[in-house]
Amino acid sequence: MSKIRVLPDHISNLIAAGEVVERPASVAKELVENAIDAGARRIVIDVESGGRRLLKITDDGEGMTRDDAVLAFERHATSKIARAEDLSAIATLGFRGEALASIASVARVELVTSTADASAGTRVTIEGGRLRDVKDAAHPRGTTITVRDLFFNTPARRKFLRSEATESYHLTNLATHYALAHPEIAFTLTNNGRETLRLAPAQDLRERAYQVFGAQFLDGLLEINDSADDSARTHPAQIARVRGFVSAPRERRTSRDSQFLFVNGRFVRDRLIGRALSEGYRSILPHGVYPAALLFIEVPLEEVDVNVHPAKTEVRFRRAAAVADAVREAVRAGLASAGYAPTAEIRDSASIASDSDPNAGVNEPADADVVTDQARSEAAGEPLVSQSFNLRPEPQQERIGFGFATATQRESSPESQTGVISSTLSAADQIAPPATAEFNAKPATDTGLTADRVEVKAGPGLPPLDSALKFVREVAVESLSANIRPLGQLDESFIIATDNEGLLLIDQHVAHERVLFDKYRALESSRRAESQQMLIPETFDLTPAQADLFDTVATELESYGFDLMRLSGRTVAIKATPADLPASEARNVLAEVLDTVDSEKRGGARATLRDEIAASLACHAAIKVNMPLAPEKMRWLIDRLLLTSSPTTCPHGRPVILRLATQDILKGFHRI
Ligand code: ADP
Ligand code: MG
Repeated sequence: MSKIRVLPDHISNLIAAGEVVERPASVAKELVENAIDAGARRIVIDVESGGRRLLKITDDGEGMTRDDAVLAFERHATSKIARAEDLSAIATLGFRGEALASIASVARVELVTSTADASAGTRVTIEGGRLRDVKDAAHPRGTTITVRDLFFNTPARRKFLRSEATESYHLTNLATHYALAHPEIAFTLTNNGRETLRLAPAQDLRERAYQVFGAQFLDGLLEINDSADDSARTHPAQIARVRGFVSAPRERRTSRDSQFLFVNGRFVRDRLIGRALSEGYRSILPHGVYPAALLFIEVPLEEVDVNVHPAKTEVRFRRAAAVADAVREAVRAGLASAGYAPTAEIRDSASIASDSDPNAGVNEPADADVVTDQARSEAAGEPLVSQSFNLRPEPQQERIGFGFATATQRESSPESQTGVISSTLSAADQIAPPATAEFNAKPATDTGLTADRVEVKAGPGLPPLDSALKFVREVAVESLSANIRPLGQLDESFIIATDNEGLLLIDQHVAHERVLFDKYRALESSRRAESQQMLIPETFDLTPAQADLFDTVATELESYGFDLMRLSGRTVAIKATPADLPASEARNVLAEVLDTVDSEKRGGARATLRDEIAASLACHAAIKVNMPLAPEKMRWLIDRLLLTSSPTTCPHGRPVILRLATQDILKGFHRI
């Protein structure tokens, strides 16, 4: 007897549903896309119980005839493509004809629809993939789909649903994304009868962003619009048009959660674009810090393959490097016109560099980018390497523990950000032997030393650093002694020190992060958070999705020293912040913590909310890289670090200390 059988439709639909229907928000996504594809001008979303009990989407689009309404639930039934060739130029959001079949196989679905010229509308009822009923029903032009009891017949899937607040957050986010992509469409979202979002049709993206995020958010954003820039459009590599908004450098995020990327109106998660965006901020934002962005990329349909991901949230570009160029340069130009970056005469060299190898693009920001940075620095009249021992006055900053400059102060002058590279010892270090040397490093992204930081000018005769890298090792806790002596700083970012076993490099930011993380975590048990009152409370506009979660996280935040007050609408007043946290970082922490619920997608179930809050606070309160430190401060930091629970790793698991052992130094000089 043969063992292979062809599965009946209701089973194969269930399998397909596993790919498309992950959670209520993914159902809503497919239904909203259908409404947009049907030309709706108004979309209403009603949700109950985070979408488990009910998800109802009403549109005023073209509707369906009775035959189509029944056919729509068949697998691979679509009006959007007809021939294989159509797949290479997809102009609609849907095209596989799978969504309705998949959704109907795992829920109880009712569809009511009518076209403009039909005498009567149609109601189709279908449950767990079985057609129950088709009859006449009244409905204005358009379609209403009601999805009840999601996963009622697949208990295993139901168990994977998260709390109602989390699912609501994802639903609100989803509605927000599509509302941003389509300012011309009116959107309403109600959750358990409460209106979360009501957006009238808007003129343009700016007006829509204002409706969604509020004036404050918009104030912090720089406009990107490369169509205003003729030279960009005529450049041969320019196949993509880029517009939208990106954040000013003072807004900092430690994840990419606040980046909304759209390709031809489709919300996508795209590493290539994400990286190109970061490239645009090169030398403006430090490594590991991300801007917020709303970027709309338009490319000719045949330049992009949207059929590469089950939920259609990833795309593949035919000429990826050229798209990355366009994004990077548009962002760069936006930053430059706001005074944050030198104007980009370097566009040509940058583009040519990556044109020559279409696959290199942003994946390998190797030598081409070094050249670019050099060109950029020179164009801006800056030396690539700032001299050692410059007598920089101590930055004034007194709100936090021991007087580190805050990000805002450093950012207040755009020039101070463009100096990527400096190997500086601060004034007081002159008593120490002039220990910093010029290193010659290729970008070595896999090591603790990031490319951004150590590409220092070549010194003749010195071996390239990557040959030393095999000797520079992470330090085991057991091998740490109290006898660590700081000598100075490399690149104003790494403390150079010695101990009994060799030479140490301590990443000042992550070291301080570890110190603060432990401190904040200890607060939890003592329950005695120290706060500092704001002179004038700052306000913070929640996004619609963040508003869904605010009450859940507010109590936790308050136990760390925040004092928050919900004002009208989606505005929150920050009245006090945790001790140590610079006031300018309060909003960043708030935004980040409110977005951590999304961290499950980064595989972050490991982290509890409290850990996330402590880590976020620690990161934002910690000394930044590119900051001069006086010897006492280095000493203080090292002493405190040694007292922590884990001096060699930061809360995110990165190494804090690297060591070049004396043994290896001796070997390197052929002395043993
Ligand atoms: P796809 O969107 O990939 O074509 P779906 O399963 O989502 O597949 O929908 C199947 C078909 O049902 C669509 O091609 C469209 O013709 C029709 N349809 C679905 N939703 C709507 C709607 N809201 N208004 C009009 N037609 C719709
Ligand atoms: Mg569809």
